[in-house]
Amino acid sequence: MSPDHMGAFRASVLLTWVIICNNVLCPVLGYLYNNRYAGDQVFKITPSNDEEVRTLREILGHMKVDFWQPNSASLICHNATVDVHVKRNDTQGLHARLKWENIDYQVFISNLQKEIEKQTGYRSSRKRRSEAQYDYEVYHSLEEIQSWMFMMNTTHPNLVDVFSVGKSYEGRPLYVLQLGKKRRLQKKAVWIDCGVHAREWIGPAFCQWFVKEAINSYQYDSVMTRLLNQLNFYIMPVFNVDGYRFSWITDRFWRKTRSKNHKFHCRGVDANRNWKVKWCDEGASSHPCDDTYCGPFPESEPEVKAVAKFLRKHKKRVEAYISIHAYAQMLLYPYSYKYATIPNFNCVESAAHNAVTALYSAYGVKYRYGPASTTLYVSSGSSIDWAYRNGIPYAFAFELRDTGYFGFLLPESLIKPTCTETMRAVKAIASGVLKKCKTDREKFPYI
Ligand SMILES: [Zn+2]
Repeated sequence: MSPDHMGAFRASVLLTWVIICNNVLCPVLGYLYNNRYAGDQVFKITPSNDEEVRTLREILGHMKVDFWQPNSASLICHNATVDVHVKRNDTQGLHARLKWENIDYQVFISNLQKEIEKQTGYRSSRKRRSEAQYDYEVYHSLEEIQSWMFMMNTTHPNLVDVFSVGKSYEGRPLYVLQLGKKRRLQKKAVWIDCGVHAREWIGPAFCQWFVKEAINSYQYDSVMTRLLNQLNFYIMPVFNVDGYRFSWITDRFWRKTRSKNHKFHCRGVDANRNWKVKWCDEGASSHPCDDTYCGPFPESEPEVKAVAKFLRKHKKRVEAYISIHAYAQMLLYPYSYKYATIPNFNCVESAAHNAVTALYSAYGVKYRYGPASTTLYVSSGSSIDWAYRNGIPYAFAFELRDTGYFGFLLPESLIKPTCTETMRAVKAIASGVLKKCKTDREKFPYI
């Protein structure tokens, strides 16, 4: 073949490949991360007394493990299970050590690569041209989510606007969708962000689900109609855009942002420990290689800074701040950083109670709820504390399904039930915002 022919041949092969990829089946996700998780295991360990907690902290603290739950060795406590992802070369050692120490454990994922393939192996292309074809029951890439946002704006201009609040570390726009009947009057607002932590893919799936359901039930469902008429929802489907993309293409279990630390080779900051309230105190790490790294200074991450700026500007209107995470099945409210009761506890507690009751009514899934510090653990620099301190009276963090059966690999078949029940909870919170509660925001001092 002449070079010209060769070029044409290559182009046609490439074109065929592109067509196959777009229309039929195609291994997405960079050849499934080049098999990087083959043989890796996820351990579920349950220390039953303080002695075992100490031992476990020491063992895991010295190993390079990826903490799924809790977020670091220092947060291990007794009678709470510890889920850790262990690299294949370290699994034998950990089995032996746990047996030797007589600590109760089980392996809940025995080959992580296989589990990832089950979740996101071969599937039909998810690039859909029209809204009706958009599949809400699969996980989407960042690019797909962003085009979907613009599509929603085009097809529902009376209810949806899209704007950017800034740029990420790698220069990507930080898109926020405004949802609600357009009015000249300034409306009260509810903020919802998803995908603060990259690997929690169910978050972005929920944000999209919420928008779809809200639009579809507008003028059919009386509660939703009233919510969209009287409130604006600011919805940020992917907060940590760089991290999400990285988890999609390179490392499924990436959690942090992607900013560079010049002194260390480790990248990224925990975007939920980078807020300017009790920054980098308890429950956060000052070491750049840790998953709970708080960053070099508060709001060091452009994503956090941009959202903080937006919320500060609109804080008089924003009545509720909701941040969607996974996994643990919990609904948390302030304080995260200390054991104390918030001034408007009664209002917030009853909103949380209504939310988990509504959630339970869908499929009987139980959520624990309460102040983050006592329900989960003390952690400084979190966004709910920041929102609350800035005068947003209702600040919640959801930890969606599950409790550690699939962990971060929640199958796509569970997107629908998970989002359906969470939708009920968020609707309950938003409805509560429209009602007056005894401790009005004008009356209580924050923090
Ligand atoms: Zn999270």
